[in-house]
Amino acid sequence: MWMDIVGHDQVASRFSHVLRECRLAGTYLFVGPGGVGKRLFAKRLAQCLFCSSSAHNELAACGHCESCRLMLAGNHPDLLEVGLKADKRTLELEQLVGDREHRNRQGLCHDISLKPYLASRRVAIIDHADTLTTATANALLKTLEEPPPASLIVLVGTSESRQLPTIRSRSQVVRFAPLDAGEVERLLVENDLVTGPDVARSVAELADGSLDQAVAMASQELWQAHIASVELLDKPTIDSVRLAELVSQFTNAAGKEAGPRRTALIALLGLVARHYRQQLRANPHGSVARMSIRRIDRCLEAEYQVDRNAHLQTVVQSWADDLARA
Ligand SMILES: [Zn+2]
Repeated sequence: MWMDIVGHDQVASRFSHVLRECRLAGTYLFVGPGGVGKRLFAKRLAQCLFCSSSAHNELAACGHCESCRLMLAGNHPDLLEVGLKADKRTLELEQLVGDREHRNRQGLCHDISLKPYLASRRVAIIDHADTLTTATANALLKTLEEPPPASLIVLVGTSESRQLPTIRSRSQVVRFAPLDAGEVERLLVENDLVTGPDVARSVAELADGSLDQAVAMASQELWQAHIASVELLDKPTIDSVRLAELVSQFTNAAGKEAGPRRTALIALLGLVARHYRQQLRANPHGSVARMSIRRIDRCLEAEYQVDRNAHLQTVVQSWADDLARA
């Protein structure tokens, strides 16, 4: 494991090779599921580049020099970071090129062109690169095309396809694989992110290798809605009206916007499908098995509909009716 980063040894050996050959590019685009450690990796890479006790062509950091200590404390003056502000949905122009009054005299593109304070280069991490608009991406282009000497820019996003072509074509893409379920489970427990080990195991299996997704799934509300739904579903006759009500209440509580409501519903459908997968494992043959399979299929179908922006209330009602009939 490279510098305590779980699951990305391959990426580490790629950078180790690149540094040894002195072929570090000016701009990288890190892509992969949320919560697998992309930004942490970028910071560790910066630490190696800043470390005054390790050779410059080595992917290593001593952990004790002034640069390492500042990096570990989260305030090295040569590391620049931008990401989504709490109440915003996209990165803002002023974060990159300064506000109207200070255009091109503030912001990340200006700051990265300054001489390093302490290290031999400056490193910028642009998180949430998925949210770059055409305008903000255009503001970045000049810096990406003519990067200041010895600077490094790391854009962090979820997938290559979500990046604007102008950004993609000017970056070296580095793909981060999903974590395996066991790693997600361990991280959940070790970092006290869930209420108990059984919750950790259940959500880790469902989270597609993303710690962010696992944490969202483990939320108290989701877990309670899941338990209540399964209780109704396990009765000899299913009250589909009550089930739809319960699921709608949970979905609506996720917020006024459609996005969070869809995410919440998909997470709950995933947990219900998992419940039937467990039943199927326990009874792999006969009529119970056939019923479990039909219900798993119906949950997947509902997830697909939610994904395709179908009307949520309608999806929930017909899903509940079909499960009651299945
Ligand atoms: Zn050091």
